[in-house]
Amino acid sequence: MKSFLLSLVIPVFNEEHNVKPLLERVLPILESYNYEIIFVDDGSKDKTIEVIKSAASHNTHIKLISFYRNFGHQMALEAGYEAARGDCVISIDADLQDPPEIIPQMIEEWQKGHKIVYAKRKKREVDNFFKKETARLFYSFINFLSDTPIPQDVGDFRLIDREVVTFITELPERARFLRGLVAWGGFSSSYVYFEREKRHAGKTHYTLSKMINFALDGITSFSSKPLRIASYFGFLSATFGFSGILYAFIGKIFLPSHLVTGWTGLFVGIMFLGGVQLITIGIIGEYITKIYHEVQKRPQYLVKEKVNF
Ligand code: UDP
Ligand code: MG
Repeated sequence: MKSFLLSLVIPVFNEEHNVKPLLERVLPILESYNYEIIFVDDGSKDKTIEVIKSAASHNTHIKLISFYRNFGHQMALEAGYEAARGDCVISIDADLQDPPEIIPQMIEEWQKGHKIVYAKRKKREVDNFFKKETARLFYSFINFLSDTPIPQDVGDFRLIDREVVTFITELPERARFLRGLVAWGGFSSSYVYFEREKRHAGKTHYTLSKMINFALDGITSFSSKPLRIASYFGFLSATFGFSGILYAFIGKIFLPSHLVTGWTGLFVGIMFLGGVQLITIGIIGEYITKIYHEVQKRPQYLVKEKVNF
C-alpha cells in the first residue's frame, strides 16, 4: 500500500463548510497510503483558503494552490494535475457528492493495470429532473457528434495513471474539456460504481449558463461536425431554392394563370433562410473563438499562492 504515491486533487470554489467534513472522511482512508492532498482554490471569496491553510499547518501532506480569481473547475483540475507528483491521481469534488470510500476500490482496479478508473454513477436520484435530463441529452448529443465517445454517467471523479497525467499536462491545447481529453487517449479503463450523494453544504456552482458553456466547449473541442451540418443545411436550402426557381420559371411559361403570388411562401422562405444563415454564422463563430483563444496563448490560470509545496 505504501509502495506508491497517491495524489488527491480537489478543486474548491467557495466550499468553506465542506473542506473539514471532507477531510474527516478522506484522511482515515488515505492513512494506509503514501498520499498528498492538493486543494486547488479557484478564487473563493469565503473562508475556504483559511480553512485549508489551518488544516495544512497540521498536516504537510495537505497542499494548497490558490488562483487570483475564478478560472473554472476544469482549470483548477488542470492545475492540480500539473502539481501532482503521484503515481496515480484521483480527482474528487469537495462537496462530498463523490464518496471517498470507493478510493480503495479504484486503486485496486488501477493495480490490475488499468490506466483510467472512472467512478460511474449508479443512479442520479439526488440530482433534479432538469439536471439529469440535460446531462443525458448532452452526452447523447456529444457522442453523436464526436469521434471520441465520452462515457455516460461519469463525471470528473476518476483515477488516472501517471502516464495519463503526463499525456494531459503536456497537451499544448488551451481548451480543456478533461472528460473528453482523458477518453481521447484510448488508455485502458475500468469502472467503479457509486451512488452520488447530495451536496453537503452550499449549492452548485454550475449555473445554467456555465453548463451551456461547458457543453459548447465539449462539442467544439471534439468535433467539427457542426460545421459540416451547417454546410448540409446550405446545400439543402440551395436545392429547395433552385427547385423553386425552376417551378416558377416553368409555371410562368406554361401555366401563367395558375401561378398565384404567394406571400406566405416568400416570407417563410426568407425567415427559414435567415435562421439557417444566422445559426451557421454562430457555429463558425464558435470555432473562430476557439482559434482566437488558442492563438492568444494566454496562461490558462494564474497562481497567487502555494502552500506546503
Ligand atoms: N468548482 C470550481 N470552480 C468553479 C465551479 C466549481 O473549482 O468555477 C468546484 C467546486 O468547488 C466543487 C466541484 O468543482 O468541488 C464541482 O462543482 P459543483 O459541486 O458546483 O458542481 P456539480 O456537482 O453541481 O456539477
Ligand atoms: Mg457538486
